[in-house]
Amino acid sequence: MMAGSHIALGAAAWLVAAPHFGLPAVEPLSLGLAVLGSLLPDIDHPKSWAGRRVRPLSNLIGAVFGHRGLTHSALAVAACLVLLSQSDLRPSIVAPLVVGYLSHLAADLLTPKGLRLAWPLRGNYALPLCRTGSPFEPLVVALVLCWAGSGMGGPALVSRATLDSGWRELGLCRLLTGHGSFQPCATSAGSRPVRPIRTAGRGVGTPPPRGAAEGS
Ligand SMILES: [Zn+2]
Repeated sequence: MMAGSHIALGAAAWLVAAPHFGLPAVEPLSLGLAVLGSLLPDIDHPKSWAGRRVRPLSNLIGAVFGHRGLTHSALAVAACLVLLSQSDLRPSIVAPLVVGYLSHLAADLLTPKGLRLAWPLRGNYALPLCRTGSPFEPLVVALVLCWAGSGMGGPALVSRATLDSGWRELGLCRLLTGHGSFQPCATSAGSRPVRPIRTAGRGVGTPPPRGAAEGS
């Protein structure tokens, strides 16, 4: 999948998973780490977001293991689980990174190329729903985000307001709106933007409630 999709899914995965770790779901550092984790597996591709930042290392990993090789394998999943089980590592750092990383692998599993889970053995495993960069990719991402936001992905400990503020923290509203018509940050039903009005002598204010007396 594209980097934007991985970012959105990594953040959503963390919002769902955070309560299971007893950690705050919407916290800038955790969300940032989850996003970082969601981009790390593609370090094996020198043109990916992560690969461009450490190009020599990315070239080396890509040459030795190939794209969607070791970093997208069952060994990588096992390494993630080992990291999570290390009590001497700070869960507030490791958990979002690992959750983001695993969200990337789950997302790649939805593409026809899938994952080489049995690496170094050959054979790809996939649940092909959409091609990377195809018009269906944002649709699949939107569906997963709806699923995560509805509370079906875990305990409904993350309120709609909390989710919305999380999306905004990451600028995901803008990102996803660019993908299509999905609006994760829609205002609540029935609410309309309040139009500022200028009141005599009082500067800019909000309209008084209907029927309220003007002045006293
Ligand atoms: Zn990948």
